[in-house]
Amino acid sequence: MTITRFAPSPTGELHLGHAHSALFAFAAAKAAGGRFLLRIEDIDRTRCRPEFTQGIFTDLGWLGLDWERPVRVQSEHFDEYRAALDRLEGMGLLYPCFCTRKDIAREVEGAGHAPHGPDGPLYPGHCRHLSVAERRERREAGQAFALRLDVAAAAARVGPLAWHDRAQGEQTAQPELFGDVVLARKDIPASYHLAVTVDDALQGVTLVTRGQDLFEATHVHRLLQALLGLPVPGYLHHRLLTDPSGRRYAKRDRSLTLRALREAGRTPDEVRSLAGF
Ligand code: GLU
Ligand code: ZN
Repeated sequence: MTITRFAPSPTGELHLGHAHSALFAFAAAKAAGGRFLLRIEDIDRTRCRPEFTQGIFTDLGWLGLDWERPVRVQSEHFDEYRAALDRLEGMGLLYPCFCTRKDIAREVEGAGHAPHGPDGPLYPGHCRHLSVAERRERREAGQAFALRLDVAAAAARVGPLAWHDRAQGEQTAQPELFGDVVLARKDIPASYHLAVTVDDALQGVTLVTRGQDLFEATHVHRLLQALLGLPVPGYLHHRLLTDPSGRRYAKRDRSLTLRALREAGRTPDEVRSLAGF
């Protein structure tokens, strides 16, 4: 049974790029006689808003999609992400990082030639080298910290990994591309990488469809699956929809939100077609 999902973050209104992604996941499920899920990825309470979640339901319903209820809302499941963190911590693969953004920028600059990953310069690893005593001292002093994955140690523990993209073929996992990723932030007790991996497994998703911009993130998710003993879904990363001038749709394109198009009198058929379906 094929199970796909669309997993937007309610940080703004959906635009045509989101419509493409949602319709892509929906079509993949329907073509296989499978199931389609919607998941609200709202762990970042500072950026997500309930009215945007409501807008997602309205927009997708208007587009003609339907999805299973209840919808999984990530902010209701922090305990499950915590349990996954505890397991990784128990394996000795997490370390507290006390660096501020400024500290990291300074370290990167000081390093001269800091390697870059898909999200920018890699974390240079300062806090990986703190002694047990230093860690305890800073924690006890109440210093805020994030939890980072020691990617080299994690990769060594599970050995070489692969995953499969249905369009782009077999991939050798390269989780080190992102460096020691943050799995829990100072203000948010989970991260995108952790929550998405745990949820896709918990919800039985068998085919993860999402934009090509998240292709590299899959390397990290594959590593987390191996560490946590989770099943490995199939993957299908789709092209990113661009506007007529070749730019990716983004939150700045106010006139191309699904709501604006609807209010301007476009029909669901027209919008599906603008979104490539
Ligand atoms: N929530 C993520 C986003 O809005 C997508 C997650 C995924 O499809 O893996 O970009
Ligand atoms: Zn640090």
